[in-house]
Amino acid sequence: MNPPVRVLYLAGSGRSGSTLVTTVLGQYDGVFAAGELRYLWQRGEVENRPCGCGRPLRDCPLWREVRRELPVERAAGIAAGLRGRLRMRGLPALLRRHRRGVRPVSAHPDDPALADLYAAVARHTGARVVVDSSKLPPYGALVDALPGIELRVLHLVRDPRATAFSWRRRRGLDGDADPELMSRPPVWKAALLWLVWNTVTVRLWAGRAPTGYLRVRYEDLTADPEATVRRIAAFAGVDPDGGPFTGPATVRLTPTHSVAGNPSRHRTGPVPITADVQWRRDLSRWSYALVTALTAPGLRRFGYPWRRGGPAPAGAGRPARGGPAAAGGRSVGVGRSGPARHEEG
Ligand SMILES: [Zn+2]
Repeated sequence: MNPPVRVLYLAGSGRSGSTLVTTVLGQYDGVFAAGELRYLWQRGEVENRPCGCGRPLRDCPLWREVRRELPVERAAGIAAGLRGRLRMRGLPALLRRHRRGVRPVSAHPDDPALADLYAAVARHTGARVVVDSSKLPPYGALVDALPGIELRVLHLVRDPRATAFSWRRRRGLDGDADPELMSRPPVWKAALLWLVWNTVTVRLWAGRAPTGYLRVRYEDLTADPEATVRRIAAFAGVDPDGGPFTGPATVRLTPTHSVAGNPSRHRTGPVPITADVQWRRDLSRWSYALVTALTAPGLRRFGYPWRRGGPAPAGAGRPARGGPAAAGGRSVGVGRSGPARHEEG
């Protein structure tokens, strides 16, 4: 019996820095940045979209080896099966099962293929930790129940006004030249999804802290990148000294072989990590008020102020370097055309 594959699962809502964290962690020895593995079957296998290394996924030498061990001829069916099992309307039942102590996502005939994916990735990369940035909590619950997996959950949270603003940006799915756009939900929908996914992530896994669950806010990550990534590395069981930092807020990135995710996963070379705070200036008052009202219960829980630039509720969030917990990240090196903003993932 092989030892279990340790999966660092990035959970939460989109546009919270998960692509950045995945790419940075992928630079450590013993870590494989797999990207959003729930999309491997559709976007990777069926659509043959680019791997993080730039090649179409089916041409990537690494994925060619992994795919040999998978039932890739059934990829479209597996992708459809996943979509069916992870539907939003299944969420109440999922939480009920979790409360009762039974596996939240029921077993399925495709589960052995999904388990084989993680095992094959670990075998071919030699990684001790596989980073899966799929984010969707129901998929994380599904992976958690697969045989041979040891799940550690990294919960990334970002101010919902920032994520709602980021979702509205027009972005190609695989870069600006891609005619297929990333989804652009309206702000009310982005706000509700933020609340649902972050709340469900807490319900499913917060009880496993500190060894199985770590919550990190985007604002703390961008305020103190190196210290925050070291904390994540230690949580994942990776030597925190082996990272790509050339300064407290600068990393040197080499290509990864990540599946799907934000187009920023293709960036390489020296990359400064700074907060994207354009939303503070450009999010309309109406949108700000709407998102604030819809996410109110979560704002307090995760330490975000109600008013623009206002103080965080007492005792919420975690200050970085003694700074205000809810500062929303420092506005260093930020601008509309700044190349180094990490707004999403
Ligand atoms: Zn590749």
